[in-house]
Amino acid sequence: MLISWSFLRAFEKCPYQQKLIRIDKVRPKKIDERRFITGSVGHKFFEIWAKRGFDNEMNPAAAGQIFDGLIRRKYIKWRDESDCGRVRERVIKEASLLIEAVRQHGIDKISDSQIECFLLKALPDGRNFVGGIVDLITNNGSWIIELKMSADTKWADADQLIFYGLLLASIQRRYPTKLSFFLPIMPDIKDQLTEIEFTKHNFFNLYDRIKHLISMWDEREFPAIADLNTCHFCDVKEYCPSSPSHVKN
Ligand code: SF4
Repeated sequence: MLISWSFLRAFEKCPYQQKLIRIDKVRPKKIDERRFITGSVGHKFFEIWAKRGFDNEMNPAAAGQIFDGLIRRKYIKWRDESDCGRVRERVIKEASLLIEAVRQHGIDKISDSQIECFLLKALPDGRNFVGGIVDLITNNGSWIIELKMSADTKWADADQLIFYGLLLASIQRRYPTKLSFFLPIMPDIKDQLTEIEFTKHNFFNLYDRIKHLISMWDEREFPAIADLNTCHFCDVKEYCPSSPSHVKN
């Protein structure tokens, strides 16, 4: 089994949801991809630009082309064309903020960076793996930077960086010294590049959570423990007898 950060987070919110998706192979009719489109465009834009060495030719309009490609590939439908146009304008504006923030924080000056690194490590049990794609690893693996195309810090969950730090540490046999979120669309410049505080205890604690997930999975323990908010956004709620909408009916 491959344990990613998003799987760990989703499992801890509701083991039953992950059982429905991963064991019962239940699929929602159609995931609403519009929820993720702006973040996907921002990440792709950043990745392409970083791989070009943060050159001076990258234009925010390229974000519009990335957007067009994604909505074609993912067959995203809009209620009307003006919605599509509004989101397209938004991704172009966000790309221009991203360019500005990269320059202001000197991210373009980092020379030994690895972009969109897929990291994978087998756990000692030999059956399970921990893996993930890290946006930016720099300073010879001692600094991890995670991009968030949001002006809401609720998406900058320190646990995610600890997870990547643990993953990198298990491969390199040393812990990173700096873990940061890069939030280029935050209005205040000082909020755009934020370092999280951590100790070794955070890494041990996260490893315990991974082991707990494996033990529950092996024991086939899948309680439906989500709160109302999680259930509201749950893509498989129609298959769940504990869903608040079922209980209400
Ligand atoms: S509706 Fe709620 S309780 Fe049911 S699977 Fe989804 S998140 Fe879990």
